[in-house]
Amino acid sequence: MASIARRLTENVPGDFYVDETCIDCDTCRRIEPSVFLEGRSFSYVGRQPENERQKMRSLMALVACPTGSIGTVSRADARPAIAAFPEPVAENVSFCGFTSPDSFGAWSWLIERPEGNVLVDSPRAANPLVNEIERRGGVSLLFLTHRDDVADHAQFAKRFGCERVLHERDVTGGTLGVERKLSGDAPVGLDPDLVAIPAPGHTRGHTVLLYREKFLFTGDHLAWSPRRRALTAFRDACWYSWSEQIRSMERLLDFRFEWVLPGHGWRYHAPSADAMRNELEKCVNWMRTR
Ligand code: SF4
Repeated sequence: MASIARRLTENVPGDFYVDETCIDCDTCRRIEPSVFLEGRSFSYVGRQPENERQKMRSLMALVACPTGSIGTVSRADARPAIAAFPEPVAENVSFCGFTSPDSFGAWSWLIERPEGNVLVDSPRAANPLVNEIERRGGVSLLFLTHRDDVADHAQFAKRFGCERVLHERDVTGGTLGVERKLSGDAPVGLDPDLVAIPAPGHTRGHTVLLYREKFLFTGDHLAWSPRRRALTAFRDACWYSWSEQIRSMERLLDFRFEWVLPGHGWRYHAPSADAMRNELEKCVNWMRTR
């Protein structure tokens, strides 16, 4: 819970503030960029919410913040913001909110399907979120893109009895119990509408998930940069091999999708699969210069 005593001096005066426990995960800035701005290595309230929509979005940021670093001076009713998660993105895909400090605030996603729901990377196992996911049919498959964003995977597996999927190259002591371990570099069909595509680079076992040839869940492999207005990859956070990550990105050119839904970085919706491919080609060329 945020502390007014530890309020960052960069916040503008008013009800909302960020305190010094902020880890600069970018979640609040992505949820309400008109209120939360980027500081040196933190976020701060650069403009107080001016209308009900901004206030609601700011409260959603408060709920989603992994470290409880966002607070309000007055007593705010966060219940509508809590109930807003999972938040619809498009069709049957939602953003879970409730990010976890264990995965540095990485975003996770819920796909609601008649064949069984899929959770992509693990959010914080907060009761309101877990109960809402249960109300929506629970989780059949928990797809873990890579070793960093597994957060409360064990709690979700215990609650829903879901199968967890992770590449064997990214299994660590905390994920030894994962039910299905992928191997090799070839794409694996998990269901007729779900393909796991190994994408080593950020980590050795990083894997992305393609749903219905439309939504690509990219973990920490690929995201949108609002600054460059282009698809991007994180050279400074490439823990395994940048050249491997470039090769993995080149292989993605063989797949069709319109959405990029990452763990870190901004999401992106291209007007068409062809337009997304053009953006991806530009990203590959940019990566070769890094
Ligand atoms: S969501 Fe929380 S931890 Fe992340 S940047 Fe905002 S205030 Fe900081």
